[in-house]
Amino acid sequence: MTEEQRIITANISRIRERIRQAAEKAGRSAENIALIAVTKYATAPQTRAVSLAGLKDLGESRPQALWDKSSTLAEDSIRWHLVGHLQRNKVTRTIAITHLIHSVDSIRLLKEIESESGKLGHVTNVLLEINISGDAEKHGFVPGDVEEAFDFISTLKNTRVAGLMAMASREGGRSVAQKEFAAVRSLRDRLSENLPDNASLDELSLGMSGDLEEAILEGATMVRIGRALFENL
Ligand SMILES: *Cc1c(COP(=O)(O)O)cnc(C)c1O
Repeated sequence: MTEEQRIITANISRIRERIRQAAEKAGRSAENIALIAVTKYATAPQTRAVSLAGLKDLGESRPQALWDKSSTLAEDSIRWHLVGHLQRNKVTRTIAITHLIHSVDSIRLLKEIESESGKLGHVTNVLLEINISGDAEKHGFVPGDVEEAFDFISTLKNTRVAGLMAMASREGGRSVAQKEFAAVRSLRDRLSENLPDNASLDELSLGMSGDLEEAILEGATMVRIGRALFENL
């Protein structure tokens, strides 16, 4: 095992332990919380080390980086997650190789995904990104607008909405993050009362290296971890 491999393996153990403890505190099973390894800071060999250590759900925030790494690591049976903004002209190439798009932030993008998925003859799984912090620089549906998006979502045949995704504010620390995650959870509960048959909101993709505990307390089913995987390298 290389030194790099050893450090990454130790980092993964620490993250798994944090997830386990947070799940215990929340009275949940850690098995119901998926660890998505965000490899946007990592070189291709470091990304390979994550895969060799057994994490197969990998996320990138830029479509181009996802395409490149998915071809470099084609042998590794990785499930790729896109966690950052997707431009409409990059949809076709991205949906062909992506397990889940966490960051669908507009009806226009949903339309494009639906039409390109139809051409490919497959179903694309997506989450709706919610701009919970209200930060104008962040992407995502405004919480008040997402309900009406479901009129359109009910017509989709090749796109499956499986849940919600959000990022906490940069400012305010963990207590603000927890309030924001709680708001996503209540939005999910409210929307769930009136969902079309072709959608579900079972997945909540919340929480990063600095706030995964708060996310798990508020019901995250997926945490997206970058920095904590690559520390001490
Ligand atoms: C970078 C990124 C992450 C990982 O954040 P860390 O703080 O490095 O754990 C998670 N989600 C999104 C959308 C990101 O862009």
